[in-house]
Amino acid sequence: MGSSATVQHVKVAIIGSGFGGLGAAVRLRQEGETDFVVLERGDSVGGTWRDNSYPGCACDVPSHLYSFSFAPNPDWPRTFSGQPEIRAYLERVADRFDLRGHLRFRHMVTGARWDEGTARWEIDTEQGHYSAQVLVAATGPLSDPSIPDVPGIADFPGEIFHSAQWNHDYDLAGKRVAVIGTGASAIQIVPAIQPKVGRLTLFQRTPPWVMSRMDRNVTAAERFLYRHVPATQKALRGALWLVREYQVGAFVKRPGLLRAAEALALANLKRGVKDPVLRAKLTPDYRFGCKRVLLSNTYYPALAQPNVDVVAAGLREVKGSTLVASDGTEHEVDAIVFSTGFHVTDLPVADHIVGAGGRTLAEEWVEGMAGLRGTTVRGFPNLLLVIGPNTGLGNSSMVLMIESQLNYLADYLRKLDASGAVALDVTASAQLRWNDEVQRRMARTVWSTGGCRSWYLDAKGNNTTLWPGTTAHFRRETRTVDLHEYDLIHASVAQPVNA
Ligand SMILES: Cc1cc2nc3c(=O)[nH]c(=O)nc-3n(C[C@H](O)[C@H](O)[C@H](O)COP(=O)(O)OP(=O)(O)OC[C@H]3O[C@@H](n4cnc5c(N)ncnc54)[C@H](O)[C@@H]3O)c2cc1C
Repeated sequence: MGSSATVQHVKVAIIGSGFGGLGAAVRLRQEGETDFVVLERGDSVGGTWRDNSYPGCACDVPSHLYSFSFAPNPDWPRTFSGQPEIRAYLERVADRFDLRGHLRFRHMVTGARWDEGTARWEIDTEQGHYSAQVLVAATGPLSDPSIPDVPGIADFPGEIFHSAQWNHDYDLAGKRVAVIGTGASAIQIVPAIQPKVGRLTLFQRTPPWVMSRMDRNVTAAERFLYRHVPATQKALRGALWLVREYQVGAFVKRPGLLRAAEALALANLKRGVKDPVLRAKLTPDYRFGCKRVLLSNTYYPALAQPNVDVVAAGLREVKGSTLVASDGTEHEVDAIVFSTGFHVTDLPVADHIVGAGGRTLAEEWVEGMAGLRGTTVRGFPNLLLVIGPNTGLGNSSMVLMIESQLNYLADYLRKLDASGAVALDVTASAQLRWNDEVQRRMARTVWSTGGCRSWYLDAKGNNTTLWPGTTAHFRRETRTVDLHEYDLIHASVAQPVNA
């Protein structure tokens, strides 16, 4: 850590400027707090929506729900808007809520250590040191690309990139391109690049369930209405939210009800793919909803085109420019697009956050991610995670969960100030109780019982990523901070004392 002359002291340091970090910054300003910085490793705001610029990138939750409730956008151009529009929206949020003065770009946080002596977070960035009473980590659950370590990949002579790091300088026209993976990004990429590539080879370990997508242009009349009668946009958002709230019951309590949705998805497959052999390859053998359900009207028709091969196997090895699938088939390609997801249950930032007693968050989570109300973690005083353990959603807008956590953050700061303590640390019993309950409810969900292996599960097979309930339930659970769930740390005492 640098000398005190070079350390900038703030009340709150936020890491990340995606929906989570920007939302936290807006909330702090709304609470009258201006003594904070947002430390961002990139050179602009947007997070997910800055980094993912692959062809076809768009949200898969309707835009009128996938946006902040406090910053409605009457001008969404499509029901599911594209990455450029979502990124521009987040830029406008930064302007409208006067956040620019707080943003510190190219400030990769390389370490954050809780100093028990000063009861502050000491933060190292690429461009200097910060000290904060409260640290908000909004580093994103899907922000660090995961590329599998395939034997021989280092000697591949062609072009390789991850979907979240698209190389726009590389022209795919006429090339033989392999897409590895069949998740949410791949099903947007495949139809977007299929018409221009020479040959597209899709490596599919597991076929996803794909429903049709009700995507369309939002008409000028609708936009006029949303702008001039805001209640109409609010009502639309409410309806979109309610439909998803009702769906949750089937995912978390009665997976049998998902059979009706399976029938719809199979009809979608039948419509898009006439060839029964290809259709068999694309038919999932696990329960609908176990992996993320994907929405597309163009994925299946693209796979049915003559320049596309679906390899129903993973990538095993690379020999020069030949890709060897785990079924032994070989495929010559010029470029590989890894659409293989992110480090979700092994967040890289967890290695760099060091709590009381010198333990990293990664060490704390060696048995699996855990925390209280998805936000705070025992042994990491005054650290609040945005989209922490078990806050992800399978079917609705993450912005709803983020806004719930922002309520919790605001109340945390209020109660911290009012308590006279310098820090709060979750009690072991409160954290245990919370996680036991979350895992008890998780046991009957389709994510646990649906017969698949998804990225929702950690290396031990536990689901530490998703919230097994409605967003309304999470909203209630995070409305206020209960100080009985925390030890209060006072400036004068070395050890925490229970409230
Ligand atoms: C392609 C794609 C489509 C998606 N579509 C949807 C959708 O339709 N609906 C939905 O609900 N969710 C969707 N998601 C999930 C999406 O990630 C969340 O909705 C939301 O954008 C997460 O916001 P965030 O701020 O938590 O994280 P991010 O947007 O990932 O932002 C995290 C920020 O933290 C920064 N950061 C990370 N580590 C550091 C560090 N050490 N130092 C400094 N800065 C750091 C990153 O650079 C980034 O800017 C999608 C995700 C992807 C990848």
